[in-house]
Amino acid sequence: MKITVVAGARPNFIKIAPIIQAIEKAMNEGKRIEYRLVHTGQHYDQKMSGDFFEQLEIPEPHANLESGGGSQAEQTANIMVRFEVELLNYPTDLVLVVGDVTSTMACSITAQKLHTKVAHVEAGIRSNDWSMPEEINRLVTDSITNYFFTTSEIANENLRNSGVKEDQIFYVGNTMIDTLLKNRPRFRKPEIWGEIGLIDKEFIVITLHRPANVDEEHNLKELLVEIIDNSQCLPLVFPVHPRTARVLENLGISHPRLYLIEPLGYLEFNFLVERSKIVITDSGGITEETTVMGVPCMTLRDNTERPETISVGTNELIGTNPKAIKPAMEKLFSGHWKQGNIPDLWDGKTAERIVQSILELYKE
Ligand code: UDP
Repeated sequence: MKITVVAGARPNFIKIAPIIQAIEKAMNEGKRIEYRLVHTGQHYDQKMSGDFFEQLEIPEPHANLESGGGSQAEQTANIMVRFEVELLNYPTDLVLVVGDVTSTMACSITAQKLHTKVAHVEAGIRSNDWSMPEEINRLVTDSITNYFFTTSEIANENLRNSGVKEDQIFYVGNTMIDTLLKNRPRFRKPEIWGEIGLIDKEFIVITLHRPANVDEEHNLKELLVEIIDNSQCLPLVFPVHPRTARVLENLGISHPRLYLIEPLGYLEFNFLVERSKIVITDSGGITEETTVMGVPCMTLRDNTERPETISVGTNELIGTNPKAIKPAMEKLFSGHWKQGNIPDLWDGKTAERIVQSILELYKE
């Protein structure tokens, strides 16, 4: 069987790496499966794309659609037009999309319109917040997916509630955690570690890039001021997403303890996360990684599509009001942050389960 694997943006690369490896393993074992890897080009620069291919040993994509830039609609349209050509030139049995980025949605629509089946990895998660572009991508993708690979029982339930049949749902776990567990022994010190003399558990990592936090400049400034004021003199390391960089430039915020740095490679970023006192973020994927590494995580959002990081893991949702920072930091420094556990099936073997399920589905 032929499978086309799609990846477009940073979190996608982390999710596809183990899937590609599991497909290659199956191929080496003589299983009847082959793949094409298609990069849509949604994230295209070295720091958001190339570094991840190198560090996670993802092979060179068979095709790069170079559809980066533009508004949400322009990007969706560009990806669809170019992915249609790709599928017409290289027909496939199954298009596999991951996560919740524009490429996920655009490629699943294109595939279904060409009567090609779609598998969605990380299906069924819901924030129920339609102001997030990712939620629209999830809803559209899941409404036209054939095979749903899920990370949690809550995702399964969301899918059942929307009418998906039991035999379309494959509860397999989390490929982002496959990548984390595989690469944990390879994490490496970023330059900033030595440059500013960081010490284990005596610094804080920040990442913010959601429109709700970043586009509201005044709020972003207040959030950062509250973090600075309530962080007990610890260094604050903030690898800045390109989206956030533009806003921070306008804000002109600076403080001797706030280190605004370029986005880090995966191995360097998670080296920092694993050793940090806490991660303050609005990312979804990072809440999963901190949960598995047992690192406290404070999410500056009003909702999450990953509730198990809160009910089981180390994550706490504190909202986007800057006033919520102080009490949360007091809880951290008084040693009352919860310990957390690892959700079921987040065991590093998810990609193998996905490939096994696909082989079963397509066996003659
Ligand atoms: N990440 C990274 N370098 C950074 C920031 C994040 O490698 O400087 C990784 C992080 O470990 C996680 C992923 O990027 O695996 C999260 O990506 P992002 O926050 O862009 O996406 P989200 O999870 O919010 O969809």
